[in-house]
Amino acid sequence: MSQLVKNLLCSYVKALQPYQSARRLYSGGQDWLNANESPFANDYQLDSSKLNRYPSCQPSSVINAYASYAGVKPEETLVSRGADEGIELLVRAFCEPGKDSVLICPPTYGMYAISAQTFNVGVEQVALNDDFSLNTDAMCALVGKVKVVFICSPNNPTGTDVPAAQIEKVLNAFADSAIVVVDEAYIEFSSAQSWASKLAQYPNLVVLRTLSKAFALAGIRCGFTLASAEIIQALLKVIAPYPLPEPVAQIAAQALTDESILHIKQQIAILDQQKGKLLYNLLEMPQFEQVGDSAANFILLRAAQREGLMNYLVSQGILIRDQSKQLNLQDCLRITVGSDEQNQRLLEAIQRFYQSEQA
Ligand SMILES: *Cc1c(COP(=O)(O)O)cnc(C)c1O
Repeated sequence: MSQLVKNLLCSYVKALQPYQSARRLYSGGQDWLNANESPFANDYQLDSSKLNRYPSCQPSSVINAYASYAGVKPEETLVSRGADEGIELLVRAFCEPGKDSVLICPPTYGMYAISAQTFNVGVEQVALNDDFSLNTDAMCALVGKVKVVFICSPNNPTGTDVPAAQIEKVLNAFADSAIVVVDEAYIEFSSAQSWASKLAQYPNLVVLRTLSKAFALAGIRCGFTLASAEIIQALLKVIAPYPLPEPVAQIAAQALTDESILHIKQQIAILDQQKGKLLYNLLEMPQFEQVGDSAANFILLRAAQREGLMNYLVSQGILIRDQSKQLNLQDCLRITVGSDEQNQRLLEAIQRFYQSEQA
């Protein structure tokens, strides 16, 4: 680092480790089973006649379609550059740098802590219980000490749904003191009920959603924050003037038509079947033990010779995600459910690896 940058850089940015996204870690390979993306690429049309103009900040074509899909009001809906920007807006709108804190429950999605640290906001942690449910007593002990609580359900990377009664308890405990965010990035894969229908009941509830996972649109960066109209108005104070590029708005609107949603639901059903098959085949092998649950589009396994296996798979062009550095996830690997062909290639490669290790 040059002296100039060293002298000027914020102290808390200096200490930061950037988020090790799946795409930053590995960019080669052909079977990408490391970022919980969909293996399906759907077709969309682009109308370039408006590209000379700045886009709408909150295009009504997208807001109305998503509000209808999620069963909320348009004024309870905010669209942003992925759910990740929603996380950032919540931190920026509700936490004062150098003073306030957020609460996270690891092992969980990494961006909550990173977003907070980027703005010099503190991060309180309450580890999940052994069965990956919330430690609600320890969380409630932090009432008054945090401004935003992040709960991920289904949780990434454990694949577990958080019991509704626990979320309800947290919402009530923090009713007067914190925003409680339920990150539902994987809700389409789960049989659990969404919290979107409870916005009127809990004024401190925020639900995060995305088109990156079930909707197979990680490449366009489009996510949604669902909350009371008042919370949405607060977030609109800190959002960029033109957060959503016009092509993104066009594609999102097409993805949210009734016909497209039906198509997506069929793809979810296919992935669900594939997940069952992949899990069955992997658990036939004595080297794997399932950890957590499979409520989302990925599975989490404790693997024998984890590091050697990861390296071998990379050499075969197959990328999965090492979660072994996460709290209580020693030797755990997260595998995104891919297409039938990809899952098959993965299984064969794993079998090759363990066979050669025995030889
Ligand atoms: C993938 C993911 C996100 C990010 O979604 P984007 O809309 O792609 O920014 C948010 N939360 C969780 C838990 C995720 O796994």
